[in-house]
Parts: sequence; structure tokens; C-alpha cells
Amino acid sequence: METRARFFVDRMLGKVAKYLRILGYDACYGSIETTSQVQALRKEGYIVITGNTRWRHVPGVFYCEATRWHEQCQKLVNAGLVRLEEIDPFSRCLRCNRALEDVAREEVAGRVPEFVYATAPSFSRCPVCGRVYWPGSHLDKMTENFQQIMGWNLEDAGKRRKA
Ligand SMILES: [Zn+2]
Repeated sequence: METRARFFVDRMLGKVAKYLRILGYDACYGSIETTSQVQALRKEGYIVITGNTRWRHVPGVFYCEATRWHEQCQKLVNAGLVRLEEIDPFSRCLRCNRALEDVAREEVAGRVPEFVYATAPSFSRCPVCGRVYWPGSHLDKMTENFQQIMGWNLEDAGKRRKA
């Protein structure tokens, strides 16, 4: 997992950051203000992604000019920055960007809806915010769209990595 890319995503591309987290990538996001900030992020090993033309020619910045989030994701895939072989879907907290930890069913009693408690095969929890996840809890319209566009099956990719 340590060898996978880490991303710093410009605040203007918030959906891309969310999506990278769904795929299991370390994806911070925030404002990009100065060239020295970009250089510092590069030194820390981040790939900086922005749609702001101001940073377009700064070395180490991936400029993403598409306007729709899935086109932006597609560009990351085309550039080889996001690869189906290395994704680890649904392994990270969407809110905190932290890797989730497996948690026993008894520990989430009362913290998830009744039917989820009864039917979900497994649970994981964010060590920072305590949010509980289960297979399917990351899935939404965005995930469906992405799967259709990319032809990737994220649930299968997740299972494959766990196996
Ligand atoms: Zn969290």
C-alpha cells in the first residue's frame, strides 16, 4: 500500500478527491496558494492535481482541465496515476482519508441501521471519526456512474484484494 500514489487535490476538484478515497487512495485536498506550497507537497511525495491554469506549468503538477468529475478521473487513469491493479476500494474513510480497521459485529450494535446490522457480512470503522462502514455503504450514484464509464467493478476489485 505504501508504494501507491498519494494525492493532494485542489479544493476545486473535491469530487475527484472523494473518488480517489473511494478507490482507496490517500487523497488530501485543500487550497493551493503558492509555488513553494506545491514544491513542499511534491517533496512529501504527493501528486498535486489541479484545474487551475495558474499551476499548469509548475513541475510535478497534474493539470486536469476537464469540467466533469468522471472526465477528470478518466484523465488520471489515462495518465497511469490511477490503476485498476492497485486500487483498494472501500478501504478508507471518505471524511477523514484514514485507512479503515476491521471491527467485530458486536462493536457496531446500535451504530448502524437494524437491517444492516443483521445482514451486512462485515464491518469496518474509521479510527479517527468512528464512522462505521460495511460492504455497500460507500456505493452511491457516483460509484455507479464511475463503474459504467470505466468498466471497473469496484466490489470485485475490493474482494480480490482482500482474498
Ligand atoms: Zn473518519
